[in-house]
Amino acid sequence: MDNFVVSARKYRPTTFASVVGQEHITRTLKNAIATGQLPQAFLFCGPRGVGKTTCARILAKTINCEHRTAEGEACNECESCKSFNEGASMNIFELDAASNNSVDNMRELVKQVYIPPQGGKYKVYIIDEVHMLSSAAFNAFLKTLEEPPAYAKFILATTEKHKIIPTILSRCQVFDFKRIENEDIVRHLKYVADSEGVKYEEGALEVVARKAEGGLRDALSIFDQLVNFTQGNLTYQGVLENLNVLDSDYYFKLVDMMREGNMSGALLLYQEVIGKGFGGQHFLTGLCEHLRNLMVSLDPQTLKLIDGGDALRVRYGQQAQSCGLPRLLGWLTTASDYEYRFREANNKNLFVEVCLMKLSTVALGQPQAAASTPSPVAQPKSAPAAQG
Ligand SMILES: [Zn+2]
Repeated sequence: MDNFVVSARKYRPTTFASVVGQEHITRTLKNAIATGQLPQAFLFCGPRGVGKTTCARILAKTINCEHRTAEGEACNECESCKSFNEGASMNIFELDAASNNSVDNMRELVKQVYIPPQGGKYKVYIIDEVHMLSSAAFNAFLKTLEEPPAYAKFILATTEKHKIIPTILSRCQVFDFKRIENEDIVRHLKYVADSEGVKYEEGALEVVARKAEGGLRDALSIFDQLVNFTQGNLTYQGVLENLNVLDSDYYFKLVDMMREGNMSGALLLYQEVIGKGFGGQHFLTGLCEHLRNLMVSLDPQTLKLIDGGDALRVRYGQQAQSCGLPRLLGWLTTASDYEYRFREANNKNLFVEVCLMKLSTVALGQPQAAASTPSPVAQPKSAPAAQG
């Protein structure tokens, strides 16, 4: 496992079909190429590391390919494709607007635009982080964007669509890239791990995907680090420890305790978590997320809002059913209130403990729960609210 190759680069997709989790984009792009309805300018928006630049490069290669396949992909065999794949194409220009955002950079680019392509049909300009251009640089570019030569195509990419001025927006066809679903990330990580002979537990890859928050590039770089740390053996426990992620098991246990009114158990569990080096804020945030996941598990329609595999969803669904909506809503309201006020608390540990005491007694005294759903805990009809 020495010198493990950076997966993000090695496994960068080179065809539309291999792009992960952006089918709505790749389908539209392939259609546009097939029907010859290519806009002059594209604006790729979306979070970092979800495939904007990758798609831009594939698009540039595909529209210049001399023998596109029946599926509308680049052939990877013609002269143009070869030079693209070797990074030697004269028809693709990439500019990172984060570091080249001056008027002079833009004038230089504009000058190049008017030189026709040498071999190949199109010259493609990819401007990354386009929202970083100064307004003077924007203006230097605007005329060219309005009336570019027919052979020039612009692909602008940004993580911050709201910062793009309307005059640019109105001249581009906008493509909204989405955060990649955890299941898609996990599937891709499995593919990389299998190809590289890395051993893994499925749960370990799910933790990596959750940590990456929808960014494939981040997921791959976390994966690379872990492979190096663990000598190519990714276990669930090992990954939790390396990434300092709290096992979701703790929250399943905690909610069971809250439901049973087991306050002592809840307090002891919290001490165990603290003992592992997690802070109170982290703990409360995780609890809110867990309760939120339980809430959305109550309805099969919203079950898909949970990041994670089917086994985890089933588990959420079962626990949610055992608690019922009114109780979950009460808990979530209380927990998020405490999470919100955490920073102001003087004694952080006590603050979290008070929250847990409250949560494990709400279960017993929850008046709405008694009124609308049968509760496993017997409650007198005239019971006053446990808190005011
Ligand atoms: Zn080709």
